[in-house]
Amino acid sequence: MELPGTMTVQELTARLGMEGVEVIKQLMRNGVMANLTQAIDYETAALIASEFGYQPTEEGKGPRLVVVETEEEAEEGEEEEEKERKGETRAPVVTVLGHVDHGKTTLLDRVRETRVAEGEAGGITQHIGAYRVKVQGREITFLDTPGHEAFTAMRARGARVTDIAVLVVAADDGVMPQTVEAIDHVKAAGVPMVIAINKIDRPNANVERVKTQLMEQGLVVEEFGGEVIAVPVSAATGEGVELLLENLLLVADLADLKGERDRLAEGVVLEAHVDRTRGPVATVLVQNGTLRVGDAVVAGATGGRVKALWNDQGERVEEAGPSEPVEVLGLDGLAEAGDTLEAFGGGREARNLVETRQKAAAAAKGGSGQVVRAPILEEIYTEDSPTQMRELPVIVKTDVQGTVEAMRAALGQLTTKEGRVRILHAAAGSINESDILLATASRAMVIGFNTRLEAGAKALAEEAGVEIQQHEVIYTAIDVVERALGGLRKPEEQEVVDGHAEVRAVFSMGRRQKIAGCYMTDGAVRRNVMARVLRGGEEVGAGRVTSLKRFKDDAREVTAGLECGLGLEGYAGFEEGDQLEFYHTETVLR
Ligand code: GDP
Repeated sequence: MELPGTMTVQELTARLGMEGVEVIKQLMRNGVMANLTQAIDYETAALIASEFGYQPTEEGKGPRLVVVETEEEAEEGEEEEEKERKGETRAPVVTVLGHVDHGKTTLLDRVRETRVAEGEAGGITQHIGAYRVKVQGREITFLDTPGHEAFTAMRARGARVTDIAVLVVAADDGVMPQTVEAIDHVKAAGVPMVIAINKIDRPNANVERVKTQLMEQGLVVEEFGGEVIAVPVSAATGEGVELLLENLLLVADLADLKGERDRLAEGVVLEAHVDRTRGPVATVLVQNGTLRVGDAVVAGATGGRVKALWNDQGERVEEAGPSEPVEVLGLDGLAEAGDTLEAFGGGREARNLVETRQKAAAAAKGGSGQVVRAPILEEIYTEDSPTQMRELPVIVKTDVQGTVEAMRAALGQLTTKEGRVRILHAAAGSINESDILLATASRAMVIGFNTRLEAGAKALAEEAGVEIQQHEVIYTAIDVVERALGGLRKPEEQEVVDGHAEVRAVFSMGRRQKIAGCYMTDGAVRRNVMARVLRGGEEVGAGRVTSLKRFKDDAREVTAGLECGLGLEGYAGFEEGDQLEFYHTETVLR
């Protein structure tokens, strides 16, 4: 049966030769509320028709599996992919960190107000967790939650959000314990840092002293021959703030930040709450692609369809691109900060996908309290070292500063040809939550020497599976690290099968490419996974999945029971009846 691209429910009813009420009921079962005179799209109609036992095809489109594309379109598609790879320059996302009371909040407020006063950013009224400012015609996105705890908590959840860290150091107070903590957290994350030496309006401000103290922490500012940018500012008066912003742009240029507007959105939930009138609201930082009203999305274990978007100025918007923070309305539940968000476009299959993924996420969450343990002994190949040195990241907390130095010296000597210790953070004091966050984010081991483990930190460590070693004798602490180092093993690549599909039709697309019209028999296929082509049990070809479509739309993922059209890189020999096996490789430790 052929069905047009759009039709009224009445038309469909006539074609099916059924009672209108039956069709309407079936639509309702599929979550579509429509009366007889309302128009529905082909996909919806086809679904209903197939549920009544028909095998519909779209008028003028041939069989249902077809991914019709002319040669011209195919070439256009190639061009688009070319553009995708390059992307456009996107705004840097900035987090402000530093010791308590050094002026992080004041600086964030000052930046925001200054730009509003200048009328460049319009009237910002909303606090949604992040805001954007314009500097020299370009944009910078500031995260509104300062501090390294929030920064590392995001990272511990697997979200890489910050492009540049601004370390605030009060010129009258100098480098303090949390300044050091913040520095170590930023370094562990490998994020570029710009120093704001704040409160220069204070009579006892001493900028030079701060620079010297920073040097002791391994941060050598430009005028001392280093590469670290330090800008003296006053968050109170606004002095130097402009220069700080300009320097952020400079660092952003060096980082060459790219985003691709022209694809489905990926982002991170910055915060979420239930609004009394609007229901669940999440602030999402779009990291790549464009998030649009109407998109089906999954965020952590919740999902839904984007009903409305608000930007940081409280304006309703239709879409948000890379590095743009937006409030998202339409999620069914409360997302959590650090959850990743993925958009799946507006198609019907998106809804199924959301469901599948929600179930999977829920299962993963509820599954017998199973917590993914942070692999502590993971080998880390330092990318710049050709000999591929393995590293054991550790965090050291001791009773007094003297033992910090002793531990540093002792652990530093543990470098063997198998690997070495990398001290992410070493300080005097009890083991706190921020240490555990850092350990989780960087998969490090925590070593306490004659020091206390804070209750909150203990609970957090248990939850995240962080290993804590507490010792009272330096020797035994060193011994533990030495054994851990000996246990560093090489990671191995392991293949994970994602799913299988059956090739039911083959279509030519362009001169060289063939598209396989497939039925997913189990699992799922995502773009960019590997596929091998099996014929009579024998492998006859393989390649990366470069295009994946449901009907005419690009799909991110297609799950069991659904049909799709796909193309493999460098392979065009599909035959009807071939089996496709999709897989990816994971690095595991044996
Ligand atoms: P945070 O804990 O790092 O967020 O610090 P706040 O922004 O809350 O600032 C702590 C205190 O320092 C507040 O009383 C601010 O008014 C004050 N402060 C912040 N920046 C400056 C500055 O540039 N000059 C002066 N004189 N005071 C400042």
